[in-house]
Amino acid sequence: MMNQIKYIEVNNVTIKYHHHTAVKNVTFTINKGDFIGVIGENGSGKTTLIKALLGVIDINGGTVKFLEGLKIGYLPQNIMQADTVFPATAEEVALVGILDEKKFPKIINKSDRLRVKKVFSELGISELLKKRIGNLSGGQQQRVMLARALVNEPDILFLDEPTSALDSIIENSFLKILQNLNKTRNTTIVIITHDLVSVGGYINRIIYMNQSLEYVGSFDDFCKNTTHSPYIHLHAKSACGHDVITKEMKK
Ligand code: ADP
Repeated sequence: MMNQIKYIEVNNVTIKYHHHTAVKNVTFTINKGDFIGVIGENGSGKTTLIKALLGVIDINGGTVKFLEGLKIGYLPQNIMQADTVFPATAEEVALVGILDEKKFPKIINKSDRLRVKKVFSELGISELLKKRIGNLSGGQQQRVMLARALVNEPDILFLDEPTSALDSIIENSFLKILQNLNKTRNTTIVIITHDLVSVGGYINRIIYMNQSLEYVGSFDDFCKNTTHSPYIHLHAKSACGHDVITKEMKK
């Protein structure tokens, strides 16, 4: 694995809320082209860690080093689902993504509209452009938010999943879109997920949080490592393939 381009180097990072340590001495690197699944029980520090990488919250120890000029995108999930009367069109929502990046004067021009159109077309959602965001299904809204995150052509895209098990089933078609971005645009993807069954086939690496970093590495090795058996038995039995685990445990 030589010549990998390091996008983000996290070194011995600790994050606290007052006296409560949410993330403890975590070290890992995110490389160009990675497709990473961040897993762990509720309250294990996943969201805190990602927020720190987005610069939303401060770290209390260690360092985070970004490749110079790295463009970061973020996709909050189901953020508007409840807001069914929100009057903006899907196109307008995506255009706001462009405005965010603009310096004064913050004015939308023709080429901005073309950029939005192009991303919608790439994602196969051109027919949604003029639709009201509040009238769209959850899955459609998710795609519009993805378009919004992509208009600025981020090098790395973070996705945070809802914590409820019911909501966390990601559609396969959405994952295929992410995979396509990862393969064709070389966009690095980091997704917090409870749904290893769906994500397992797409990711190349896992970050398993338990306040400390329990594991970082390939999905296959994660499944084979018997120290992860409790988590696997609860959340990832079918994702890992039950046979593999029992075989390993018998050794
Ligand atoms: P996860 O995303 O894995 O569910 P979080 O990063 O949300 O975990 O939370 C990690 C720990 O930090 C939990 O114990 C949680 O209660 C605590 N925590 C999260 N956000 C805050 C906050 N804003 N203030 C105080 N404690 C918090």
